Amino acid sequence: MTEEMKHDVSNEDASQVPKVEAPPTILTGDRPTGKLHLGHYVGSLRERVRLQNSGEYEKIFIMIADAQALTDNADNPEKVRQNIIEVALDYFSCGIDPEKTTVLIQSQVPQLYELTAYYMNLVTVARVQRNPTVKSEIQMRGFNADVPVGFFTYPISQASDITAFKATTVPVGEDQLPMLEQTREIVRSFNRTYGPVLVEPEALIPSGEAAKRLPGLDGKSKMSKSLNNGIYLSDSPDTIADKIKQMYTDEGHLRIDDPGKVEGNAVFTYLDAFCEDRHFEAYLPEYANLSEMKEHYRRGGLGDVKCKKLLQAVLEETLEPIRARRHEFEADIPGVYQLLEQGCETARAVAAETLDQVKDAMKINYFSDASLIEEQVAAYAKGGER
Ligand code: ATP
Ligand code: MG
Repeated sequence: MTEEMKHDVSNEDASQVPKVEAPPTILTGDRPTGKLHLGHYVGSLRERVRLQNSGEYEKIFIMIADAQALTDNADNPEKVRQNIIEVALDYFSCGIDPEKTTVLIQSQVPQLYELTAYYMNLVTVARVQRNPTVKSEIQMRGFNADVPVGFFTYPISQASDITAFKATTVPVGEDQLPMLEQTREIVRSFNRTYGPVLVEPEALIPSGEAAKRLPGLDGKSKMSKSLNNGIYLSDSPDTIADKIKQMYTDEGHLRIDDPGKVEGNAVFTYLDAFCEDRHFEAYLPEYANLSEMKEHYRRGGLGDVKCKKLLQAVLEETLEPIRARRHEFEADIPGVYQLLEQGCETARAVAAETLDQVKDAMKINYFSDASLIEEQVAAYAKGGER
């Protein structure tokens, strides 16, 4: 066993660690680095709304991760500040209901950072370096050794967010799986070292390849705010039409009669994520479903323009009601801030309770542990010296 492995909780036997039970609770979130896009919708937001309305969860927390956004935007706090309201508007317009879901802003819950400080002692640098999401995000942002420490350690901060609310379930896109694994390791390490306090969360990944990781308009990298390669939930119909026109399809499909490739063709990936059989009845009755349409494209004889027109109609059907609700919330910005402020207050109370339990387990509760003082008094009384 190498020195690194000795400290690496992922290599230890999970079965020895007592499991902590908790009522079904959700935590997810987004970085306020831009408006939310279709990737967020299919990867997480659509599922969050469904779970919220299922009544199966006792508590739901959705976090606007402004402190995490600052880890790679330290020089641009204004960008983060301005996008908090954008993300909140996107949530409420997609159907997140403040009566059922607590929407909070990360930086306003200081307990999260205290937890992070303690969790950092349970994770090695080598372990964070192995995290494939961190690796690819560092590469994508052109960081080398100059990666900010805060950015490098954000998986640990994410573990604090999840465990502070005792989340059992975290609905996220596939890119977040390594983060969840890191959290689970921290939970096991903490519980083994200090006693059973933290709850081990499960990731909830959407079904369907397209929804797990929706590509950008270029069809290559993941749709991401930072790459600005997306269709935003609040884009106007004209903007969406323009973006769809520019979308990457199959380079080899030059004439309508040429056989076309469906795999790696972003138009079909988006159709996979959004299209249902009923859409064919409404917009393209010559096919019963997407499989039939794909078959025709592969054979040749189906043009890109027709495929793109269908995509536009399907997206418009999905986004039109979201856009309309957004306009209603946009008319009451102070009201939206009020909802966020209430959410932060609720979140602080829950996180404070977890932090108290964590500090009790770690025995950093000097003033609330009467037995500590009593024992020391007794020890000194006996011998004068310890
Ligand atoms: P940034 O570029 O600032 O990291 P982002 O577009 O990656 O922004 P995040 O705020 O990091 O968005 O991600 C929020 C949630 O949305 C996560 O659960 C993530 O898995 C999910 N998500 C983001 N992009 C996609 C995508 N293209 N496909 C599926 N899920 C996605
Ligand atoms: Mg991201």
